[in-house]
Amino acid sequence: MTENDDIAEIRRAVQALCAEFPGEYWREKDRERAYPGEFVDALTKAGFLAALIPEEFGGSGLKLDAAAVIMEEIQSSGCNGASAHAQMYIMNTLLRYGSPEQKAQYLPGIADGSLRLQAFGVSEPTSGTDTLSLRTVAARDGDHYVINGQKIWTSRAEHSDLMLLLARTTPREAAASKTEGLSILLVDMRAALGNGLTIKPIRTMMNHSTTEVFFDDLRIPATSLIGEEGKGFRYILSGMNAERILIAAECVGDAKWFIEKATAYAKDRSVFARPIGQNQGVQFPIARCYAQMRAAELMVHHAAQTYDQGGNPGAEANMAKLLASEASWAAADMCVQTFGGFGFAEEYDVERKFREARLYTVAPISTNLILSYLAEHVLGLPRSY
Ligand SMILES: Cc1cc2nc3c(=O)[nH]c(=O)nc-3n(C[C@H](O)[C@H](O)[C@H](O)COP(=O)(O)OP(=O)(O)OC[C@H]3O[C@@H](n4cnc5c(N)ncnc54)[C@H](O)[C@@H]3O)c2cc1C
Repeated sequence: MTENDDIAEIRRAVQALCAEFPGEYWREKDRERAYPGEFVDALTKAGFLAALIPEEFGGSGLKLDAAAVIMEEIQSSGCNGASAHAQMYIMNTLLRYGSPEQKAQYLPGIADGSLRLQAFGVSEPTSGTDTLSLRTVAARDGDHYVINGQKIWTSRAEHSDLMLLLARTTPREAAASKTEGLSILLVDMRAALGNGLTIKPIRTMMNHSTTEVFFDDLRIPATSLIGEEGKGFRYILSGMNAERILIAAECVGDAKWFIEKATAYAKDRSVFARPIGQNQGVQFPIARCYAQMRAAELMVHHAAQTYDQGGNPGAEANMAKLLASEASWAAADMCVQTFGGFGFAEEYDVERKFREARLYTVAPISTNLILSYLAEHVLGLPRSY
């Protein structure tokens, strides 16, 4: 891939910032399950999280392809962008569907870091992947919506000022079609906490700051509605392409990190009086992962460029996410194997990155659901669910 000077400069700048946050920083956060606030602050100050916000609102107005490079470099430097990645793609829904007043009210603060939009409340414990069955209700009451229900896996909710929430505003039976009746609301969590909103952290196998969120008669102003009432599912779907492409870019970055670590270790580690990397049994898995990563990388940039040209890269975004999450997971497994016993020792960061990389064949969309999208919408096979 040939890259222009601007992209190369972005890579260098992200690498320089990430160098300030070495493995020890992430290990400590991982041990404590603590939020990497200093890292997120540094990314914000440097303007990276505002990459996609137009210049008129204080962002840098970059294309998605450039934003993907930022996320990739964070991961390939050994850092973890999951602490902040949502800000980039959630903001997109506000940008695309918010009113001029909402954009003027929120985007400059998000761009300068005084407002954090890091929480995305879609998943629920009972409906799972079947988003249209979600049960959280926002009922209109005069100038307010009254919200009742529960979300799960709402990551970074404790470290965010705002949450983009998907809730039902028209009962499923009364909606014009099965995809109508859900709406997007921008919830100001600072006002809501303790007044109908409760957040409960979930401890997971990696440090991800994810939570359960409970709504108990939470009243929010009706002006929190983004776009038209009832059209929220469509808005969410269109934002998901950007989310999948950015997360796929993170997976490519992770794969690069694992491949680089494994290659260096295979050159350095000597057993039977020769480097382990001299054995084809050690070389070939690394080479295979490299090829797999490069193929995924091409699909990520193809998807991002299609998006940037105004296309609807549903298939490309899904394939990028599928290929990249599988490439990063294959590279994670290969890296542990290459390191042998040392792959399990905390100090090499391999086991931490291994745990972190495992997420992406499950979230934000699992591999099966991508395959069924491709089967149905690209190949024309019968709908399976
Ligand atoms: C750490 C973490 C962070 C997350 N962060 C967020 C967040 O910030 N916001 C948010 O809204 N969500 C978040 N999620 C939720 C995530 O998007 C879901 O976990 C994911 O979409 C899978 O949904 P589920 O867990 O309900 O699985 P389920 O829907 O219960 O599915 C379980 C398994 O069954 C398979 N399956 C289900 N239906 C079918 C079918 N029809 N055909 C074939 N296979 C099927 C799935 O592929 C999956 O493997 C997060 C999850 C995790 C673990």
